[in-house]
Amino acid sequence: MKEKFKIFKRGIEIDFPLLLHSQRLRRFFAEVWKALPQQDRDQLNDSLILVSDHAVLRLLANEQDEQMRGGAACWGEGRLYIFLNASALKNKTSEHVRFVIAHELAHVYLKHTDRKGTEQRHENEANRQAAAWKFPLPD
Ligand SMILES: [Zn+2]
Repeated sequence: MKEKFKIFKRGIEIDFPLLLHSQRLRRFFAEVWKALPQQDRDQLNDSLILVSDHAVLRLLANEQDEQMRGGAACWGEGRLYIFLNASALKNKTSEHVRFVIAHELAHVYLKHTDRKGTEQRHENEANRQAAAWKFPLPD
């Protein structure tokens, strides 16, 4: 049985560690996570091993996605983790940060597990899924 990480109020659980030093990112992650349908959260819980803004993860992040948006979904040991670049996201709008979080969750949800995550097709699919979750790419 998997360990539960109960970090949010009102009993919304995640099955992976959320190691975000940035309080702002923690708040936005909680907002996005709570907005997702339960079945989508269940699927993400099964696939995610970690969400973190720890700088060491940047070494493993998909450079193009990370530089472009301030976040990256990364493949690791059959499951996925998400890196959020707190300094890159620091001066971005709330809408942009929510979009980045939803976009990276979408890569995991859509099982974009190969290392060719830079493919434009995957980027477009992740943007569409983020928009379907009501976190569209800001203008
Ligand atoms: Zn992407």
